[in-house]
Amino acid sequence: MAEKGKTIRLEVITPDAAVLNEDVEFVLVRALDGDLGIMPNHAPLIASLDIWPLMYDVGGQRHCLSVASGFLEVSNNAITVITPAAEKPEDIDVERAEAAQQRAEALLHSQRKDIDVHRAEMALKRALCRLDTAKKYGGH
Ligand code: ATP
Repeated sequence: MAEKGKTIRLEVITPDAAVLNEDVEFVLVRALDGDLGIMPNHAPLIASLDIWPLMYDVGGQRHCLSVASGFLEVSNNAITVITPAAEKPEDIDVERAEAAQQRAEALLHSQRKDIDVHRAEMALKRALCRLDTAKKYGGH
C-alpha cells in the first residue's frame, strides 16, 4: 500500500494505450542529457527521453518498462511520460524484438549505399531496449 507523501504518480501514455498509472516511490529514466532519478515532490521538469528502460519502485520492488524515446514532465507530484511506444516486460514479444534486432544489424552491416543508417540504428536500439527489459524483468 502506497504511503501518502512518500510516492509520486507515474503515468505512461502512448498513442495506443495508457501503459501505466501508478503511485511509485522512485523513477529512473535516461534523458537525452543523462540519467534522471525522480523522487516524490520533485521540482517541475521537462525532459526528452532516450530509447532506454525506465525503472520504477513500488513497495520497495523494482519494476521496468521499455520506453522508446518521447517526453517526460514532472509537475504537482506527478510524472507524465508521453512516448511513441512503451511496453511492460510481460507484454514484450522477445522473438519479434530479436527479429527486429537481426534486421537492423543486417542492414547496418550491409554494403548497401541506400540505407538510412540513423533509422536502422534507432530500430536496433528499440529492439535491444525491449530485449533488455524482457530478459531482466521477465518477458516471454
Ligand atoms: P518492429 O520492427 O518489430 O515493428 P519497431 O521498433 O519498429 O519493431 P515500434 O514502431 O517501436 O516497433 O512499435 C510499434 C508498435 O509495436 C508499438 O505499439 C510497440 O509497443 C509494439 N511493439 C514493437 N515491438 C514489440 C515487441 N517486441 N513486443 C511487443 N510489442 C512491440
